[in-house]
Amino acid sequence: MEKIAAADNLNNNGEIQETINYYKTATTEDLCKRAASLCETIHGKDIILRGLIEFTNYCDQDCLYCGIRKSNSNAVRYRIDEDEIIKTVATGYNAGLRTFVLQGGEDSFYTSDKICRILEQIKKITEYNASVTLSIGVKSREDYKRFKEAGADRYLIRFETSDPKLYQKIKVNSSFERRITAIRDIRELGYEAGSGYMTGLPGETEEIRINNALLCKELDLDMVGVGPFIPSNNTPLAASPQMPLEHTIRATALLRLLLPKAHIPATTAAGTVDPLGREKMVKAGANVLMPNITPVELKKHYLIYSGKICLDENGSAIINDLALRMASIDRKITFSRGTALRFL
Ligand code: SAM
Repeated sequence: MEKIAAADNLNNNGEIQETINYYKTATTEDLCKRAASLCETIHGKDIILRGLIEFTNYCDQDCLYCGIRKSNSNAVRYRIDEDEIIKTVATGYNAGLRTFVLQGGEDSFYTSDKICRILEQIKKITEYNASVTLSIGVKSREDYKRFKEAGADRYLIRFETSDPKLYQKIKVNSSFERRITAIRDIRELGYEAGSGYMTGLPGETEEIRINNALLCKELDLDMVGVGPFIPSNNTPLAASPQMPLEHTIRATALLRLLLPKAHIPATTAAGTVDPLGREKMVKAGANVLMPNITPVELKKHYLIYSGKICLDENGSAIINDLALRMASIDRKITFSRGTALRFL
């Protein structure tokens, strides 16, 4: 309880401003040291695993940055049927995983009825011992309510950038306000709420980077995902430069300082840009890893960006690799559900 109380600081504007001032002037090394130390005080040395299942790469959206955008006719499309999703969860459950993240494009094939059925089955076969996270984009409040009632515990929906003008440029025909409302709906409906953003989008400034972290603070998120934007072949942003991973590392540290209790993943995108990217994120205050347990024959088609790693290995091989990586930096993977501290 003491640890949680310690994490309840930083609730007034003065303290938040002090943290931003520190972020602006500190070296990356100092920033990371401070964030990692705070992370260890609150979360210990455990790194929580979440099994990621990318169950459809069909998408009704046309985000300029994303390799599975509707207009990418080069994408090889797939959907995992309901039985196969359940089998994938069962395999992960038997391997010890206690959290499953169902992520996909905004695919209207999966009606709310279908999603509810999948949720109910997952809860049943895992004997209500596993948490389920959905990450399937903007839905109506009514749908979010139904998913929650059917067993969804958490929802992830990144706002991508806090700058409404930049948002409008990269997410055509999508409303920034609507996405933020979705995040607020999720939280109000009792989900563990997750959001986040990419760093290094073309047009991003240091001011936007700071505002990204402040928006996460304002939304009082339980989970924050941040990763580098990686130019993706066959998209309008294919020729954009790859910005340094340092932006993501500094963002991770700032998020940890602003949201001490949040669960923050060391993202696969960071591991794609730099072979030690995930280790660097953990050393900057991240405390979650998301092994991709999508069936091996399909995962190569969920190509949201180019060069994505872990496409040829199955879930067990990835978990073994992550265990070794974490041991090399004095951390330990855990199969715990990793419930948000707000709910404990
Ligand atoms: N459709 C859901 C949504 O929009 O929330 C979830 C799927 S979406 C593909 C998952 C995340 O992938 C996005 O939130 C975005 O941040 C990330 N992503 C997409 N394209 C990317 C890229 N080129 N580089 C890095 N991350 C990318």
